[in-house]
Amino acid sequence: MSKVLIVEDEVAIADLEKDYLELSGFEVEIETSGEIGLSRALSEEFDMFLLDLMLPGVDGFEICKKIREVKNTPILMVSAKKDDIDKIRGLGLGADDYITKPFSPSELVARVKAHLARYERLIGSNQPENDLIEIRGIKIDKTARRVWVNDEEKQFTTKEFDLLTFLAENPNRVFTKEELFREIWDMESIGDIATVTVHIKKIREKIEINTAKPQYIETIWGVGYRFKV
Ligand code: CA
Repeated sequence: MSKVLIVEDEVAIADLEKDYLELSGFEVEIETSGEIGLSRALSEEFDMFLLDLMLPGVDGFEICKKIREVKNTPILMVSAKKDDIDKIRGLGLGADDYITKPFSPSELVARVKAHLARYERLIGSNQPENDLIEIRGIKIDKTARRVWVNDEEKQFTTKEFDLLTFLAENPNRVFTKEELFREIWDMESIGDIATVTVHIKKIREKIEINTAKPQYIETIWGVGYRFKV
């Protein structure tokens, strides 16, 4: 749920804003003091700020400027006078939008929603993408440790996943069972190279259509295994 902080010294207006935003599914908190509002805006996580311009002590100009120095969270400035809005624009404080009192609650909600949606798109596009390996019908998501075979997700144990990923990351190279065992199982682990054979068999059952004629992990007789591309 998106969390909105309202900094507004007129309690009736703050309550009105809160009621409408809550009805639209937002979580809303109110601060009537500019000073406390600013400190919470800087130290807590909010998804949007509604700042009244005229506040005793630290005013909306100052809060907006201070937030912008450290955060890109959307800011909607609320003012009683149209003139003030022109002034804010002129100052270039980095507010995302401006609304004049009295405003219609539905307009307020619409603007808050629009800015949150835009901001979420922005954040989403900055998130690093998962590390994927795609070879023919196999897709391995290394970040999420998930595997799909022809768009169907398959479940792998930790070692099966590590072994499949290692082979797929080094295609067309032959590895001996000893090399694979050293690579995937640490030296202290109990077991022997027969473990590799067992795991290859399990992996094939999940990725191959016909395990007798593997299309992905080939057996190189007398040597080891190779992921064929
Ligand atoms: Ca005020």
